[in-house]
Formats: sequence, structure tokens, C-alpha cells
Amino acid sequence: MNMSYRVFQKRLECGMTLIEMLCFMALALCILIGIFLATVIIESWYGWLLGVALGFLLFFIPLMALAVLKDLWSGSGLPKCRNGCCRGPGNFSGYGDYDTQKSGEEYYEVCKCGDRYKRHGKRFVLVNEDGTETPYLIWRRFRGWYPDEGQPCRVR
Ligand SMILES: [Zn+2]
Repeated sequence: MNMSYRVFQKRLECGMTLIEMLCFMALALCILIGIFLATVIIESWYGWLLGVALGFLLFFIPLMALAVLKDLWSGSGLPKCRNGCCRGPGNFSGYGDYDTQKSGEEYYEVCKCGDRYKRHGKRFVLVNEDGTETPYLIWRRFRGWYPDEGQPCRVR
């Protein structure tokens, strides 16, 4: 049992390094392309400098675009609380009024009003005192948070 765990661990590490290596290669390639473009367009010493900057842009803009698309698709962060006074962390800022608290085996997002919430995939539900859940908001792809009028969530 220990063996298989270690093999799994090893695979995981290899996977990570492979991804990191690919990222690094992509970055290096982007910088090279950037330098090439810049030195061809601007035939001067600072073409190199511009090329490196261009390379970073080439590398990071698609990454950021992907991150934004992923956020719009699945909805990251948390919406406003039911009282409308506490804001969740946005797509780009990690700050918000919610505080993640652990109660038993469950994690809750507690806003400043003291209400407990939980994220179930696309749903953001209010957790009542007795542990039951009231549908609150649902994330609609590319459109944002909408009132959740669907069937009540099952308690997991
Ligand atoms: Zn609140």
C-alpha cells in the first residue's frame, strides 16, 4: 500500500515538473520570438530589451485570457451576501468579506453579518442554523450570479 502511494506521489511530482518544464520552454520560446520580432523591426540594441518584454507579454496574455475565460465559465470568487453588504473576493482580487470557517468536517463561508454560506459547484447556498440549505444564487456562464430559483439543493 505504501509502495503504490509512493509511486503515485512520484508520478505526481513528475507531472508537475513536466508542466513546469513545458511552461518554461513556452516562456523561453515566447521571449525568443519576441527578441526576433523586435530585432527585425527595430534594428537597435534596445530591440533585445523590447523583445524580452514582448516575449513575456506573448506568454502571459494567453494565460491571463485563459484564466479570465475559466472564471467566466465556472464563476470564481463569491457573490455579495444576502444582505447586500458583504462582498466576495472578485476574479482578480483575493480579498473579500467572507471568512472560511471549519465546523466539524464542513467548510463554510461566513460573511460579516454572521450568515453561513456554501459553494456547491455553480450554486451559492445559504446554510441555515439547523444545517439545512436555502438556494440563494446560481452562476450562469458568462453572465454572472443570478437568483437561484431552482429545486432546493440536496444536503451532502
Ligand atoms: Zn453579510
